[in-house]
Amino acid sequence: MSLQFHALTVKSVARDADALVVGFGVPEPLREAFAFEPGQYLTLRADVNGEDLRRSYSICSAPDDAEMRVGIRLLPGGQFSGWAAQHLAAGQTLQVMPPQGRFTIAAEPAAQRHRSSSRPAAASRRCCR
Ligand SMILES: Cc1cc2nc3c(=O)[nH]c(=O)nc-3n(C[C@H](O)[C@H](O)[C@H](O)COP(=O)(O)OP(=O)(O)OC[C@H]3O[C@@H](n4cnc5c(N)ncnc54)[C@H](O)[C@@H]3O)c2cc1C
Repeated sequence: MSLQFHALTVKSVARDADALVVGFGVPEPLREAFAFEPGQYLTLRADVNGEDLRRSYSICSAPDDAEMRVGIRLLPGGQFSGWAAQHLAAGQTLQVMPPQGRFTIAAEPAAQRHRSSSRPAAASRRCCR
């Protein structure tokens, strides 16, 4: 796995009052590097007011979805989440590190997807099907 940042195109941004869900397109040459297991996260990188910020966000799409999505909850005074809420838009590119994280669960494509009744991060729950 190559742990370097790659420029991915933002395909979609869905916003509400306290969170946004960002969908990335993964081009064919990067498919292998960005293959993931449920439970892994992406590290996003952006220059925010001259500062090189890196933040991690759990992947909330399924491996076979067309877009790779993360949910970003807005934190009052949060540098990255505030920047993302104001500036991220479809068509932009963002520096993204390939998926990381060893706390994974085996994907079961045949299993029916369902919403959890517990309370995970609101943003993540919002973008799961
Ligand atoms: C493995 C992993 C997965 C994660 N997955 C998700 C996810 O799916 N969704 C998600 O939303 N987040 C997730 N996070 C958290 C995410 O990486 C960021 O930490 C989060 O978005 C906040 O970043 P920020 O730049 O917006 O806030 P920051 O600027 O880092 O600030 C965080 C908070 O601290 C306060 N603060 C900052 N500086 C000070 C100070 N000097 N004094 C007092 N208070 C201060 C801010 O006001 C804010 O409320 C994950 C983190 C990890 C490690």
